[in-house]
Amino acid sequence: MATTSMEETVPESPYCRDLEPVSRIRYKQLVSKYVGRDPYLMKMSEFSGEHTDLPTIEAVDITNYLVLQTSYYTKQQMKAYKSMEAYNFFVSGWVHNLGTKRLHDGYRLVFARVNHSQRANETPLKTWIIAKEDGEVIAAHCNCMAGLSESCSHVGAVLFSVEAGVKMRDIASCTTEQCKWLMPSHVKKVG
Ligand SMILES: [Zn+2]
Repeated sequence: MATTSMEETVPESPYCRDLEPVSRIRYKQLVSKYVGRDPYLMKMSEFSGEHTDLPTIEAVDITNYLVLQTSYYTKQQMKAYKSMEAYNFFVSGWVHNLGTKRLHDGYRLVFARVNHSQRANETPLKTWIIAKEDGEVIAAHCNCMAGLSESCSHVGAVLFSVEAGVKMRDIASCTTEQCKWLMPSHVKKVG
């Protein structure tokens, strides 16, 4: 498939440049269609930490993406989600600096850092997700991978984090204390 001139004008992140050719074309198509700029070239300050900006990702959207769209997990694994690596990364608080950017036509870009492992000195991974406002997940990338799969445990962990944020947003009596844990370090890192 030939690249269009529009895609050529989108500056590439090192992550994009290192993808193998088919994945690289797909990546650039995604970026130019939904975002306009490579998310790996954005600053954290471009993202909002407000719950109100989150796409309404629910359990069904997570299953659709991880099972049906990317075949990363099987239905059986998804039923036992509490034993999944992705869910445990989320529960362990490995997802942080989660922020949302509003895109055109109601799309949302969610960006987060996810710890690589328990070793504190390792640079966290950078994971992003494109979703519709209503929660349908379009695509995702993580710099732990280089390929077409568009899914990994870190993407799963971010999806669970967004789902949790949406649930909290929907609790009318949500106190500041309850809401704070989702993005514990976001505020500090902005700027
Ligand atoms: Zn990953």
